[in-house]
Amino acid sequence: MPAPAVPAASIAPIALVGALHEELAAVLEAMPDEQPVRVAGREFWQGHLEGRPVVAVLSRIGKVAAATTAAVLLERFGVQAVLFTGVAGGLAPGVAVGDVVVATELLQHDMDASPLFPRHEVPLYGRARFPADAHWAAALADAASHVLADPAALVGGAAVDDFALHRPRVHRGLIVSGDRFVATAAESDALRAALPDALAVEMEGAAMAQVCHDWGVPFAAVRTISDRADDAAHTDFTRFVAEVARRYSAAVLREALRDGPGALARA
Ligand code: SAH
Repeated sequence: MPAPAVPAASIAPIALVGALHEELAAVLEAMPDEQPVRVAGREFWQGHLEGRPVVAVLSRIGKVAAATTAAVLLERFGVQAVLFTGVAGGLAPGVAVGDVVVATELLQHDMDASPLFPRHEVPLYGRARFPADAHWAAALADAASHVLADPAALVGGAAVDDFALHRPRVHRGLIVSGDRFVATAAESDALRAALPDALAVEMEGAAMAQVCHDWGVPFAAVRTISDRADDAAHTDFTRFVAEVARRYSAAVLREALRDGPGALARA
């Protein structure tokens, strides 16, 4: 009988999740030994990255898809932490295309059971905001700072000029999620008015944060800004995902795995 690939008393894996094929592809390329396990119509890729056990998966788009993915990672794969990497629309002034936002907390901007509960509060949880794990968030922010220090090395000088990535910045704060691709200035204005401290908008993070909260497992999210959630969002998003996003995601995750929580404990 062949020896199992992973020893029985192994360290629990870290989940690496992306919403789009392009985001996951670069992570899989960097894994030397990935093996797929199919659950709930998704391929969960078990293997290693930077010497640590990981499970990499495409969540697909939206809050329900993200919640399903998180539940399987937690219950079936027993992951020790969930790290989400992807793209998002910039909301706050100064959060530009090519910048990176690391969540300190996440909220569902389309949750509204008022007047029974305050707007945005998740009924029966007594909260609207779910915190990200501080240690993993710090590791992702440090990794992003290093990666952004030389964008040309990652994406090439032409893309740096095309997307004006000359001085990308790392921001930390609130990320909001909802089941809408926010692609009009009117809608992003409304989000800024309702949630003035929101840095970025996407479609998965807060759902995944809520599921991880239910299991008591650390969650963190890093998003590269692909668009400004305005009338140009669709074109900007498509070009950015094709040409830039994938390179950032994998580089940031790899560095965070090298230096993040638990790194010293591994063999
Ligand atoms: N693949 C489709 C739709 C992508 S939906 C297309 O090509 O049009 C956008 C994805 O990127 C989601 O996973 C979401 O989390 C993130 N995202 C990027 N910009 C966003 C924005 N302005 N509003 C909402 N989500 C955004």
